[in-house]
Amino acid sequence: MGEELENMKKIGVLTSGGDAPGMNAAIRAVVRTAIYKGMKVYGIRRGFQGLMHGDIDQMDAASVGEILHRGGTILNTARAEAFKTEEGIQKALTVLKVFGIEGLVVIGGDGSFRGARDLSQRGFPTIGIPGTIDNDIVCTEVTIGFDTAVNTVLEAINKIRDTVASHERTNIIEVMGRHSGEIAIATAIAGGAEGIIIPEVPVDIDLLCKRIIEGRNRGKTSSIIILAEGAGKAMELEEIIEKRTGMETRATVLGYLQRGGSPSAADIILASRMGYHAVELLENNIGNRVVISKNNKIMDEDINKALAMPSKFNEELFELAMVLSI
Ligand code: ATP
Repeated sequence: MGEELENMKKIGVLTSGGDAPGMNAAIRAVVRTAIYKGMKVYGIRRGFQGLMHGDIDQMDAASVGEILHRGGTILNTARAEAFKTEEGIQKALTVLKVFGIEGLVVIGGDGSFRGARDLSQRGFPTIGIPGTIDNDIVCTEVTIGFDTAVNTVLEAINKIRDTVASHERTNIIEVMGRHSGEIAIATAIAGGAEGIIIPEVPVDIDLLCKRIIEGRNRGKTSSIIILAEGAGKAMELEEIIEKRTGMETRATVLGYLQRGGSPSAADIILASRMGYHAVELLENNIGNRVVISKNNKIMDEDINKALAMPSKFNEELFELAMVLSI
């Protein structure tokens, strides 16, 4: 008979890559679930950078109190080039051994999951939790931070709409998304935008301008165009649209404000469920998995499979945004 592995007793948690609202709720869920299950839990500051340098402290239930409503991450985050080298990974493994940590939860984007995979491949069980506002992780229907970012952008659109309508202008609002139009598509639908430009689909500027002119002729007092940052520069588009429509056009780049703020209830609940699931996996000595949400169920997927999935594009929602923007 095979020897049964004992349940894990000491785990670590870190946040890595770009921060996202709701990461704190995920940290809290990991810490409190682990304590509830009788495990010790260690917080690792500054992502893989802090891991390599042993920037680690034991956490208790109180150390994650009063953080649910806070944006960002209490553990801080970092990008650590050195962790991509064998030397860096070995350094991290040594630190984990010194602290007696047996498993790790990594909250971040797909870059962070590559780091998690590298640790798992060397026999150290690691679980990824998708935390990024971009919603660009293919294996999960939604990532922690996306809902909050969409709501933040929506608030901005509604404010800009008030002033744009008063002046009968067009406004181009540049939102985050270097490779993905997810935030742009969701906010275009929610904000009733008149146009949408995303990296996945080539833009037809003439058609866009025609729609703006037709809208004005029908009596529209404002036009909002949502532009994902990876599809062009708002300032350049401002000039082109103003020239072709003859209407006053302004650009607004929302930038980092999209990352901040209190997480939405949906993000807090998603993060809490994912954090709980991650600890359940580690408790049973399961590693090399990413926690995902599918049909509103929390599940997990093999990290290698997750990383190999071709990037997604939500054509159905894009079509909807186009249809409703006439
Ligand atoms: P975001 O989506 O917000 O950009 P991310 O997790 O994709 O988040 P990255 O900067 O790509 O952000 O990765 C974060 C960290 O993960 C890197 O600084 C590095 O420490 C680690 N990492 C990234 N890519 C790899 C890789 N190929 N191998 C090992 N570790 C990696």
